[in-house]
Amino acid sequence: QIACTIGGNVAENAGGVHCLKYGLTVHNVLRVRGLTIEGDVVEFGSAALDAAGYDLLALINGSEGLLAMISEITVRLTPKPELAQVVIASFADVRKAGDAVASIIGAGIIPAGLEMMDKKAIHAVEPYVNAGYDMNAEAILLCESDGTPEEVAEEIGRMTAVIEKSGASMIRVSQNEAERLKFWAGRKAAFPAVGRMTPDYLCMDGTIPRKHLAEMLEAIGHLSEKYGLRCANVFHAGDGNLHPLIMYDANQPGELERAAAFGADILELSVRFGGTITGEHGVGLEKVMLMAEQFSTAEIAAFHRLKAAFDEAGLLNPGKGIPTLARCREYTQARAGSAAGAPGQA
Ligand SMILES: Cc1cc2nc3c(=O)[nH]c(=O)nc-3n(C[C@H](O)[C@H](O)[C@H](O)COP(=O)(O)OP(=O)(O)OC[C@H]3O[C@@H](n4cnc5c(N)ncnc54)[C@H](O)[C@@H]3O)c2cc1C
Repeated sequence: QIACTIGGNVAENAGGVHCLKYGLTVHNVLRVRGLTIEGDVVEFGSAALDAAGYDLLALINGSEGLLAMISEITVRLTPKPELAQVVIASFADVRKAGDAVASIIGAGIIPAGLEMMDKKAIHAVEPYVNAGYDMNAEAILLCESDGTPEEVAEEIGRMTAVIEKSGASMIRVSQNEAERLKFWAGRKAAFPAVGRMTPDYLCMDGTIPRKHLAEMLEAIGHLSEKYGLRCANVFHAGDGNLHPLIMYDANQPGELERAAAFGADILELSVRFGGTITGEHGVGLEKVMLMAEQFSTAEIAAFHRLKAAFDEAGLLNPGKGIPTLARCREYTQARAGSAAGAPGQA
């Protein structure tokens, strides 16, 4: 994106369009140097293959500024692929699009990018960037292949065969680099395009097992009706990372609260589907109480002990990332209370 630091990338263990094939930040970082709150230099990972002590490199990736201030990062360099081509597929049925994602991975194909957009997102994007998206589709998939020209030709052939079999209503393959970039331009502009349709929107970031994508989209549709708020869906479908964009107007009394409750329901559903409350945007302050939805008290206590090993006084990003055990208890009791008070509600 246009504004992002490498320190923030490591702190959030950032992912995105290409992480399905090339891994998350954690898979591309070799060594991290940082400073503890006391100002001591601390190193995670090592250039040596057999370094002494625990390997804590994965711990600092995604630590959201809770453990140390990252000051130096050594990254793995990956050669740029010779060629990339993208398949764009339209589906008249969201369920078929979700199932196509599972089928592509099930066929042993690891695309360089596998993204999904629903009708609301398509209708937000197309008038904004004219990417050539099918306005009649209920959902579209963008499925990229990269490598040598021979590898790309072979993989595109296998991808299109699987997508066809999954019931796509239209399939196009980018014929040159300009067209590939045009197809991606729509996806990349999805957030600002939705921003044109609504005074405010809340971007959620849950992750679910791919096989539940279609079910999740249907559930989000029901929640949209329940809360009376529109929602456009953009997914890093390949790794099951959802970005529902909940539209609301903060000037209308109660809409912000409804949007927040809608978002929390999506994340709770993500956990119930066997997923997580964040794919790449982190927990921060916004989702701190949802940690209690995903982790047991014993796990959260372990997170606190880990934090204390680096920052005993809790001075780095206080209040972020890990809820106190007292707040976890309050949250669990409140949830149990509201479930008891509202039988039969989704
Ligand atoms: C429009 C939009 C699109 C996005 N798309 C993606 C995406 O495709 N993939 C993705 O993974 N994420 C995405 N994000 C989320 C986020 O921007 C990224 O995860 C990004 O890597 C965060 O980096 P930043 O420099 O913006 O960090 P900030 O937002 O400034 O900080 C994030 C957290 O990291 C901590 N931090 C920052 N720097 C350091 C440091 N040097 N040492 C220790 N802690 C530090 C901060 O305290 C904070 O808790 C998106 C966000 C937006 C708004």
